[in-house]
Amino acid sequence: MKVGVLALQGDVPETLSALGAILPGDDVLAVRTPQELGRVGALFLPGGESTTIARLLVQAGLWNHLADRLRTGLPVLATCAGLILLARELVPGFSGLDPPTLGVLDVQVRRNDYGSQRESFEAPVRVEGLEGGPFPGVFIRSPRIHSVGPEATPFAWHGGEIVGVRAGSIWGLTFHPELAGDPRLHRLFLKAAHAAALGPTAEPLRTRRARR
Ligand code: GLN
Repeated sequence: MKVGVLALQGDVPETLSALGAILPGDDVLAVRTPQELGRVGALFLPGGESTTIARLLVQAGLWNHLADRLRTGLPVLATCAGLILLARELVPGFSGLDPPTLGVLDVQVRRNDYGSQRESFEAPVRVEGLEGGPFPGVFIRSPRIHSVGPEATPFAWHGGEIVGVRAGSIWGLTFHPELAGDPRLHRLFLKAAHAAALGPTAEPLRTRRARR
């Protein structure tokens, strides 16, 4: 399965290199066109500036294609600005212009809710299903998740605050795993994306091998 990184703006090189460290190079594809989007079985939406990424998605003719792929189950790991673009609703209050959103993650978020660059911080994050202890959370001009609707499930927390949610194989994080120097979260997502690609009726590989 090819894994794409939306490569319009933001943390693209960091995300490509974090994935390059855990996947064969040929499996990772920078996605800038509808054709490239059509070739991937999972997609990373990196952090950056959500208004800029939204504008470039429209300009590249990708907005509707991405919306269609999301509706039909494309596994996505969305980070920070990526999470903003997937949110059902943006809570007003951020001083800048808010982007349109794709609305596939049932959360309300507010942009830059911890403050500006100076208030960026690192803190341990507890991630459900992640072995090996807390994950090093890197929060950069992060959005805050204000509420989670019935169609999304929290799976990551910083203290008592929800910092990661998912709806099926669409995952959204307010922090940056590509900057953590820790591949566990990417691996966990890729494992879930592969399982989703095999479908609910697929037998585990080991059983299939044993039957031969
Ligand atoms: N503050 C950015 C936005 O609102 C997100 C920051 C990030 O992706 N690190 O789009």
